Amino acid sequence: MDWKEDTRARFFKAAKHITSREERKELERKSQERKSNNVKRRPRRAPDALEEEEAGFERMTTARREPTKGGRPGPTIGAKEPEEGLVAGLVLGLGPGRARVEVDGAEVEGELSDELSALQRGAIAVGDAVGLRELEPGRWRVVRVEERHSWLGRPDPGRPDIVRLVAANVDVGVIVAAVRQPMLRQRLIDRYLIALQRGGVEPIVCASKIDLLETAEDRRQVDEALEPYRALGCPVVQVSAERGDGIDELRGLLAAKLAVVVGQSGVGKSSLLSSLAPGLELDVGRVREGDGKGRHTTTHSSLHAWRGLRLIDTPGVRSFGLAGIARGELAGYFSDLDEHARDCRFRNCLHLEEPGCAVREVAAVIDTVGVRYATYLRVLESLE
Ligand code: GDP
Ligand code: ZN
Repeated sequence: MDWKEDTRARFFKAAKHITSREERKELERKSQERKSNNVKRRPRRAPDALEEEEAGFERMTTARREPTKGGRPGPTIGAKEPEEGLVAGLVLGLGPGRARVEVDGAEVEGELSDELSALQRGAIAVGDAVGLRELEPGRWRVVRVEERHSWLGRPDPGRPDIVRLVAANVDVGVIVAAVRQPMLRQRLIDRYLIALQRGGVEPIVCASKIDLLETAEDRRQVDEALEPYRALGCPVVQVSAERGDGIDELRGLLAAKLAVVVGQSGVGKSSLLSSLAPGLELDVGRVREGDGKGRHTTTHSSLHAWRGLRLIDTPGVRSFGLAGIARGELAGYFSDLDEHARDCRFRNCLHLEEPGCAVREVAAVIDTVGVRYATYLRVLESLE
């Protein structure tokens, strides 16, 4: 056995899921059988379905990668040592050179230190834990940003190779995608998934406007389109802000977490936020411009708290582009594909036309993997 064979054998041994060509053949055979029996593939609530789902989620969250440039969890920025007289706060909103910060349950407005100002949105984001100094009564300066455990970024409009921070320390990201008006597009969901995973944010897929589904067939199709995400272990909720469906369920998933809501414009994010937190005025408290006159309409995100819910909205943020992800890195964000990559003949397989590509083989026989593989190919094409 030459060294290549040997490496391959070790790969097989290490692979937990599909360990040999024989097993893959078996998989293929079963899939054919299912098709010929005309049995719909619906891995729903079988005895160990929940277990599998959790395992899937584990794989997904550990598969995340750090970006190569720009925003990142990074070390503390600003004053290095815990300093005398430094007060801890949470960033609720940002404006030019200023931040709205929660300190001891109250809101204060503070100026950013020169160092933070210079870095602005690369250095500080809504959701950041910060250290402030009270220069004189009521006059605050933000001097330090603590290390963040997660982040959501987007490409800088002027320099798409740079990632700007949109939110920090978020636990979950709600990906809102309308089932109609506009039509559900899995590719978009997949892109948001990558952006969230990249910064260590757990995703929830939220299919909105389900009141627009008229027939049982419509509903079945939407359900099917959401299947890849369930298979991935990602919570999926179907909601209607109009009728109230799924709102309680979503609220339950968000309780005691810091959540960020993302999605194309028009999918119903604002409506959803109002249903989740009725009475919460979403424009409240945007950072005022310098002299305090009038509201500064920003495209910045801001953090809202409402009866145990803590939500960050991201108005005006149209895309969370995938700048800075290397082609070879991409499969790592598709954990459901990546787990089969161990069986690819080539270690640096891009799962395109390479001979002996296990990912392509599996995608050909398992529908939910096939859907994700198609997205993978499209995203890959768009990189660089
Ligand atoms: P955003 O741009 O994502 O914040 O979306 P909006 O909340 O502003 O909603 C966009 C449009 O979709 C508005 O015309 C809403 O009335 C409509 N819309 C929002 N939620 C629903 C829903 O649950 N059902 C239906 N039928 N329409 C909705
Ligand atoms: Zn491959």
